[in-house]
Amino acid sequence: MSPRYEGKPRFGAVKTLEDFDFDAQPAARQQVGALASGGFLTEARNVVLLGPPGTGKTHLATALGVAAANHGHRVLFATATDWVTRLADAHRAGRLPQELARLRRYGLIIVDEVGYLPFEQDAANLFFQLVSSRYEHASLILTSNLPFSGWGGVFGDQAVAAAMIDRIVHHADVLTLKGASYRLRGRGIDSLPSIRTTTDQAES
Ligand code: ADP
Ligand code: MG
Repeated sequence: MSPRYEGKPRFGAVKTLEDFDFDAQPAARQQVGALASGGFLTEARNVVLLGPPGTGKTHLATALGVAAANHGHRVLFATATDWVTRLADAHRAGRLPQELARLRRYGLIIVDEVGYLPFEQDAANLFFQLVSSRYEHASLILTSNLPFSGWGGVFGDQAVAAAMIDRIVHHADVLTLKGASYRLRGRGIDSLPSIRTTTDQAES
């Protein structure tokens, strides 16, 4: 078992809901406000944050994690790639079931950046097992710059992706963030063709 995952949520920069400028994402204000109380955790509901780069997905995922921790829930945060690495380590050691059981004792697991890198088939299957093991037991927050329709390409298999999305969204709040990157605000470069393409893709 890798000790570096123990004890702390392992967030990157700590961001809070108070730091979030909802004027940039007015449509998300009410939904995020309702999630901040942590009620979704007691029902083992999930939260999915979708949208183009820089729209605040990681910020909101972190902030909801901080709020959950403040309500006394156990929280872990890592990127999708890190979660797969961790599950693959457990699988190789012949203790995947024990690891999944242990992770179920965390009320909230945050999986940042689904779709940033495509998964190998084995990785996709491991990720599916994480989603299945938590289904109706404990919550996940996932972030992705891809719409659900793009997840088949990430997991290399439409059937695996469909089965996974089915479990994730059965009891979930899906928030779609919109607009230009907050990072690039006011720099006059939010209409670069590469940015537009990403935005179009994420909103298609
Ligand atoms: P994403 O994960 O969607 O790519 P991030 O959450 O990493 O975007 O946001 C990029 C940066 O901009 C971060 O520093 C984040 O705190 C900030 N940011 C994004 N949206 C907002 C917002 N609405 N209010 C305040 N800061 C924001
Ligand atoms: Mg992010």
